[in-house]
Amino acid sequence: MKNQSYVELTNILKQKIDRLLSEKIVDYMIVYEKGSLWFKTRPKMIRKQTDMEKVIWNRYCQFNLSTFLKSLSGKDENIGIIAKKCDLGSIVELIKNNQIKKENLYILQVACDGVINWQKLENLLGTKVAKAIEVEEDSPNLVIKMPERNIEVLKNDCLPDKCLICDFQPSPYANDFLTIVDEKIEDIKEIKSQPLPNLEPLDNMSYEERLGYWLKHFSRCMRCYACRNVCPVCYCSTCMFDGQEGLWISKESKTSDNYVYHLTRAFHVATLCVECGECQRVCPVNIPLMKLNSKLAKEISDTFGYQAGLLIDDLSPFKTYCQEDPDEFK
Ligand code: SF4
Ligand code: SF4
Ligand code: SF4
Repeated sequence: MKNQSYVELTNILKQKIDRLLSEKIVDYMIVYEKGSLWFKTRPKMIRKQTDMEKVIWNRYCQFNLSTFLKSLSGKDENIGIIAKKCDLGSIVELIKNNQIKKENLYILQVACDGVINWQKLENLLGTKVAKAIEVEEDSPNLVIKMPERNIEVLKNDCLPDKCLICDFQPSPYANDFLTIVDEKIEDIKEIKSQPLPNLEPLDNMSYEERLGYWLKHFSRCMRCYACRNVCPVCYCSTCMFDGQEGLWISKESKTSDNYVYHLTRAFHVATLCVECGECQRVCPVNIPLMKLNSKLAKEISDTFGYQAGLLIDDLSPFKTYCQEDPDEFK
């Protein structure tokens, strides 16, 4: 989508939200607003039409807003939320797991053909994105306007992995789908083929090598819990890792306890994880968490034919029992 298309889509979005608020279809909307730097956005809740000017929609809206729905369950208000196709999966899981009622939710899906991962862009540029004046699209490239010259990079190289396999289609669970007439979904679709993340190298390792791989990464973990806090489906009101010192693991960040934290969290979200990639995106030390999440998702899919985030009526294998389920514990 070109820069101009984002401007048009933002205007349509504002008109839509204005109507939702004025007709009291929703009490408030969870939207994106401009962040502290030009290439950043941040979540915002708006209740008043006078806040409408703050609403923004662009290639930097990478945050999954549905993570805020976790703390809103039980409140008797109608909530509107802007969602990308990839955010719909976690919303489906929150509805399925009684964290939010579908009837209290207005899901406004917005056409999206990829968000820019500015960390990836910075790696390509070899300098801070903040130095750039603007980024424009000249498909299949992005033109980065730097003060002294323009740099062209392949757009797909700047997208999060999830965008490379996304089909952008409207979700059956969205109340509305906003796109623009001259840029239909079929037209914005580009070559996206990589199966991600590539789990083969890890699968081909011996047990000892794999353990060494993860211990090396977990030893770098600071236990800042950003990965847990940002995760839209990590919704326990009291997390076992916030309990009393020494109850499960120490508060100290040491490899053995970090290992317990990561394995426990991976199993807790095993049938809920929609592979949105948020946990890995926010990790300050770049731990490849998606390799762990996607491995579990793949095992669950291969074993039970179940995929999280697809269908509201499709119960998780943890909640069902079937005579035909493989029973390898005998
Ligand atoms: S995964 Fe799809 S919907 Fe989500 S940001 Fe990427 S292109 Fe957009
Ligand atoms: S975000 Fe990274 S450093 Fe923080 S707890 Fe998670 S894995 Fe560890
Ligand atoms: S990818 Fe990470 S943040 Fe997203 S649902 Fe899975 S565990 Fe949570």
